Amino acid sequence: MKIYKAAIIGLGPSGLAVNKILYGESFNEIIAFESEDINKRDNIFGFWLTDWMKPFEKIIEKKWYKWTIGNKIIDVTHTSLDKPYCVISFKTWKKFCLETKNKLEIINKQVVKYYPEKNYFKIITADEKIYYAENIYDSRSAKEKKGELLQHFFGINISVLDNTFDENKLTLMHFTEENNVLHFMYILPFSHNKALVESTVFSKDVFHSSWYREKINHYLKENNIIKFKEQSSEKGVIPMFFAEEKKSVNSNIFNIGIRGGACKPSTGYAFSFLIKQIQLLKNSKKNYVNIHNFLERKMDKVFINFLKNNREDGRSFINLASNLNGNEFQSFMMGESNLLTKLKIINSMPKLPFIKQLFK
Ligand SMILES: Cc1cc2nc3c(=O)[nH]c(=O)nc-3n(C[C@H](O)[C@H](O)[C@H](O)COP(=O)(O)OP(=O)(O)OC[C@H]3O[C@@H](n4cnc5c(N)ncnc54)[C@H](O)[C@@H]3O)c2cc1C
Repeated sequence: MKIYKAAIIGLGPSGLAVNKILYGESFNEIIAFESEDINKRDNIFGFWLTDWMKPFEKIIEKKWYKWTIGNKIIDVTHTSLDKPYCVISFKTWKKFCLETKNKLEIINKQVVKYYPEKNYFKIITADEKIYYAENIYDSRSAKEKKGELLQHFFGINISVLDNTFDENKLTLMHFTEENNVLHFMYILPFSHNKALVESTVFSKDVFHSSWYREKINHYLKENNIIKFKEQSSEKGVIPMFFAEEKKSVNSNIFNIGIRGGACKPSTGYAFSFLIKQIQLLKNSKKNYVNIHNFLERKMDKVFINFLKNNREDGRSFINLASNLNGNEFQSFMMGESNLLTKLKIINSMPKLPFIKQLFK
């Protein structure tokens, strides 16, 4: 009977981070279970360059020092010279996290359950095979929950005629007018003739891909981008609720990634937070670390309740962006805003609806 040092359930970005950050320099034997074919996964993760992300600077694929937030009437441009917006692709993160000294065995199977037995865990897969490990890192998570808001999106990577895009400036949020949902376009210009063009919605239900495609086509047409070649696409659903599981009472079970509370639900940003989570776990004797502090969580809850109960067309976001400079805005998005910035944020929001949500 072979007992692995650790079992990683799910090789998404958090499971991969466990392999690299916690065990990459050891000679431990680790087993990882993944139910999908991760070699087919291809998407881009964006984040602002916080201090905890600096160790990964060499694998960053592109940085932008300028971004805009707006609609058809107004565009707020932010600049940050020391904390640019960056992207790392899943493929690059996977390659980086699999280049380690430890011995990793990847099992392409679904884990059905696991439970403690003596001083290790018994792990059972869908084909009823049994595996053993001393520690469990579990990243399975529910992406949808009845009645809760979701951030859902579909994007295409396109190539276009030369000098179509300003590759130095990304469009973080370009809000469009819709009937019942909050919708914005997210454009990452990788070069003057290549970009990711994504349609994103905040609502309780996910749409058919034709809905987002229509928005993408409309946006491209409006910007006189008629000729383009689609190279690939990405889609996703991110919970806009605290999707974390209860802290495990068993100190050898670690809930990681979105399951461990890494996602900032009001924004859907999770990638850099889940890396911070694994870094914090490395230096902790506990099986749970707080990634978002009390005040940040409270503000997120109030903001999400506001979005759930009010018709928002993006103006609150634009107002917030126009009251903050680039550094303040990125500090808020990355959960590092100081008290003054927090006060500016509260001041930017519609007062009455927010006060109502505060007491809910
Ligand atoms: C397309 C896309 C783009 C995104 N872009 C950004 C971004 O720009 N910036 C940002 O901060 N965040 C972004 N996110 C949000 C977040 O960073 C991702 O959702 C991220 O993948 C979360 O990582 P995770 O490891 O917690 O979970 P997951 O990536 O969901 O990984 C969990 C893994 O577990 C596997 N699994 C599930 N159940 C089982 C089982 N029973 N047995 C075995 N394996 C199982 C799944 O197949 C999956 O591979 C994006 C999400 C998506 C989907």
